[in-house]
Amino acid sequence: MTAPHHELGGLTRVDLESVLIELGQPRYRAAQIREPAWSGRTSSFLETKSLPLALREQLAARLCFQSLTQVLATSADRGLTTKLLLRAHDGEEVETVLIRHPGSSGQRPRNTVCVSSQVGCAIGCLFCATGQLGLRRNLTAAEIVDQVRAAAQIWFEAGQSAPSNVVFMGMGEPLHNYLAVVESLHLLRDWGISPRHIVVSTSGLVPEIDQLAGEKLPVRLAISLHAANDQLRDRLVPLNRRYPLAELKAAAIRFSASTGRRVSLEYVLIAGVNDRPADAAALRQLAASVQAHVNLIPMNPIPNSTLSAPPQRACREFAALVGPRASIRFSRGERATAACGQLRASMTALPRRSALAAAAHRDLVGGYVEVGVR
Ligand code: SAH
Ligand code: SF4
Repeated sequence: MTAPHHELGGLTRVDLESVLIELGQPRYRAAQIREPAWSGRTSSFLETKSLPLALREQLAARLCFQSLTQVLATSADRGLTTKLLLRAHDGEEVETVLIRHPGSSGQRPRNTVCVSSQVGCAIGCLFCATGQLGLRRNLTAAEIVDQVRAAAQIWFEAGQSAPSNVVFMGMGEPLHNYLAVVESLHLLRDWGISPRHIVVSTSGLVPEIDQLAGEKLPVRLAISLHAANDQLRDRLVPLNRRYPLAELKAAAIRFSASTGRRVSLEYVLIAGVNDRPADAAALRQLAASVQAHVNLIPMNPIPNSTLSAPPQRACREFAALVGPRASIRFSRGERATAACGQLRASMTALPRRSALAAAAHRDLVGGYVEVGVR
């Protein structure tokens, strides 16, 4: 028997129908496979009970059901936030964060999956655990989709609803893995998540921002700014030396103009580094010129660095200076999202990657409590 060479997560419905036709099966079988596979109800072809047994075996020989296996799951915020460490076929590991927003006064509940786009990252931002790894490899489109499917399975098993939103704010720079990321956006749409419910976050690759604007995929764009003057941004986000603020700002304006969607600006607050009143004033001006909302994220501590967040009060004062366009992401959700890369970083630092060792190091990942190991 030959090894499976295609991954289910990387196939559109039409692709899967072609496989079924080759096997002499009717097209409608595609829905019988995809619906439970997407919702997390099945975790292999063999347990897809609506299919004849012979077909289940044929599919298992031909296709890989899920390209990632779960190494660790940790949970925080009374179960509203879950972090997964997932392992690919070659042993590389990535993080995926699941965030539930139960919905309040008039707001619909959302289940957001924060996906990684690369193993590590080449950009090397000063405050980022993923950046410390360097780039190990790009993820495939199927590996990106399969993070959302892994999340769906966790939520299904917990009796929660399926993923509704995806943010590319995990490990890696999505626009540095452009083709696979765009393919994953098409695949996610095919599986059932509209690009309107997807945010791609970038440290500022200007040509790719323009390219994304031309894709006719109505995704939202977040730009990780972190500094509103070039001298400081050169230090925090080394990519700024290639695409300085004036170019990035122009690209953000072009993106909004050509897509009709506002971009948002992410700004990690670091004590004594980018939190002066002058920084807030520059940020306010830049946000106004791009007409962007600003998400202020107090920095999460990372290994081998003394950088830290300003005290809460200082964060609030900074936000007040930036004005009504700014909001602070103090807790859980986005903060846990922003900390992507830390779980893997803390595991890599260990002599033995055991779950016990991970638990001992959980303070490195922000007080997460271990809930399960497979
Ligand atoms: N590479 C892309 C997307 C992944 S990083 C980008 O930089 O936009 C997603 C977000 O996490 C970014 O806004 C990033 O600045 C933030 N982040 C990284 N390290 C962080 C830390 N230690 N504390 C808080 N936010 C962090
Ligand atoms: Fe890469 Fe984003 Fe981390 Fe910067 S913040 S090193 S771009 S993952």
